[in-house]
Amino acid sequence: MARHGAGRGWYTKVIGAALGVMVLATGASVWSAQADAVDSAPKAVSPERKVKAVEKSIAHASDAGARGVNITIDDGPDPNWTPQVLDVLRENGVKATFCIVGTQAEAHPDLVKKVVAEGHRLCNHSVSHDTTMDRQSKAYQRSQILDAERMITEASGGVRPMYYRAPGGAFTPYSRELAASRGMRPLGWNVDTKDFEQPGADAIVATVERELPNGPTLLFHDAGGDRAQTVEALRRILPSLKEQGYSYGFPVR
Ligand SMILES: [Zn+2]
Repeated sequence: MARHGAGRGWYTKVIGAALGVMVLATGASVWSAQADAVDSAPKAVSPERKVKAVEKSIAHASDAGARGVNITIDDGPDPNWTPQVLDVLRENGVKATFCIVGTQAEAHPDLVKKVVAEGHRLCNHSVSHDTTMDRQSKAYQRSQILDAERMITEASGGVRPMYYRAPGGAFTPYSRELAASRGMRPLGWNVDTKDFEQPGADAIVATVERELPNGPTLLFHDAGGDRAQTVEALRRILPSLKEQGYSYGFPVR
């Protein structure tokens, strides 16, 4: 009996020790899941990782309230134009939302990290900016959205995109639902500055002044061509809207 009892004691200790290890391991994984939000552990970016779902309707409103304006910057990052846009935003104390293309994130991870470090938010703008997304299969839409989510999160060092903007606004009910289930609020716009057509900085500024009553979310681009006019227009628009009593915020989630 004594030996048996001793045996049980030993067995219990081993089980207890094993449970202790399991608890420690569980604790460690919880801790690393939280740390993943800020460090660059590669394991941070599994698309399977649980995230909190958000609203699936397309957001336009600003979290800065009735006089809030959301600056959104699409298609980058670009090694020439993104740093210039970041400079103008910083000089004016404005935080913006950058809709990042997956392949661009993969090519310029340093710029994605810089965007995050300067307090801006990330938005998923798909892997390859296919503006016919709304006519493609669900499997294609899924890979465009989830692969870009992974590419952007890897490039940022673990910071997830908080929104999804379909290239060209080509949302589908499926893509909105999928993005929202991954914590990325579908993001629209109210004012298309058409800066990609290079109409001149004056015209870009005029479009913003004329169309701002349409709603608070303004669309600019920091890639896909010469964006000198965008940089110049932002340099004028950002202080001007502030003088008119607007404040800058992020799209609602
Ligand atoms: Zn775009």
